[in-house]
Amino acid sequence: ARSDRAHRYRVYDDEMLEGVKERMDLHNDLHRVIKNNELALLYQPKIEISTGRIVSAEALVRWNHPTKGLISPDRFVFLAEETGLILDIGDWCISEACRQLADWQQQDVGPVRIAVNLSPRQFTDRSLPHRLQALINHHQLQGSVLELEVTESTLLDDTDRAIKMMQQICSMDVHFAMDDFGTGYASFDYLKRYPFSTLKIDRSFIMHMCSSEREGSIVQSMIEMGHQLGLVVVAEGVEEQEQADSLKAMGCDFIQGFLYSRPVSAQELQKLLVEQPFS
Ligand code: C2E
Ligand code: CA
Ligand code: CA
Ligand code: CA
Repeated sequence: ARSDRAHRYRVYDDEMLEGVKERMDLHNDLHRVIKNNELALLYQPKIEISTGRIVSAEALVRWNHPTKGLISPDRFVFLAEETGLILDIGDWCISEACRQLADWQQQDVGPVRIAVNLSPRQFTDRSLPHRLQALINHHQLQGSVLELEVTESTLLDDTDRAIKMMQQICSMDVHFAMDDFGTGYASFDYLKRYPFSTLKIDRSFIMHMCSSEREGSIVQSMIEMGHQLGLVVVAEGVEEQEQADSLKAMGCDFIQGFLYSRPVSAQELQKLLVEQPFS
């Protein structure tokens, strides 16, 4: 029995070692990600429930690794956050989104807005508003075509400074969405104090909203509260028609999820935008 146990431990160790090794490999490769042009944005449409039209899309980053293939942000964003590389990666995402918006503007595709995810480190960077403005000017965009999605953890650090920075960015007509609403400790407090214009109900609530009456009521209350605060409400992770129907009945404004579309390439989104019937 003893050697059995020793054997088990060794297997476990090997697995841990593999994990550490993968982390280190990715970590080393991450430094070259921008120079080697290995990042890509996918876009997931947000549908306006009342019209069924795509009015906006969330940009979701992917790492196109030369040997490991497509790597999802859950595997490298936290690494990049630890090393500070997220600043460069975040910059790349925002500027790529702006470039794409300008491209669509020139081709008369749309109108569509793009929402970019911001990570905590990016929010500690005081030059963010200035650089955003420079990008908007460079691409001749209106601020209102850009949206920034932030979670509670993004804002944790320095409340006053975060609010000030958000206000600065809002004055450029760039709007903020509170992402993953309901998963943090003080979601309501954040909505009250920070200049958000959109609330995104986390997927975990949507998942059970039709099978559990309690979860259904929670979603309903979030929508009502959001509207009372003058916010637009988005439900994320909508996978079932039944969920979409209930959300519509509850007065939710936008839905996003696999039911309508998975995250797709810019070309595919463009196709969806061009093909949708004129309102
Ligand atoms: P998130 O902001 O909550 O993004 C939504 C995630 O849910 C995306 O995963 C999306 O593909 C997935 N999703 C959308 N609809 C459905 C659905 O109906 N069912 C299910 N099961 N999943 C759905 P993804 O693209 O892997 O992104 C994961 C997380 O990585 C994001 O969560 C976000 O926190 C982070 N992330 C993605 N792109 C960026 C980025 O450019 N910068 C930063 N800082 N973080 C990013
Ligand atoms: Ca998001
Ligand atoms: Ca989210
Ligand atoms: Ca989420």
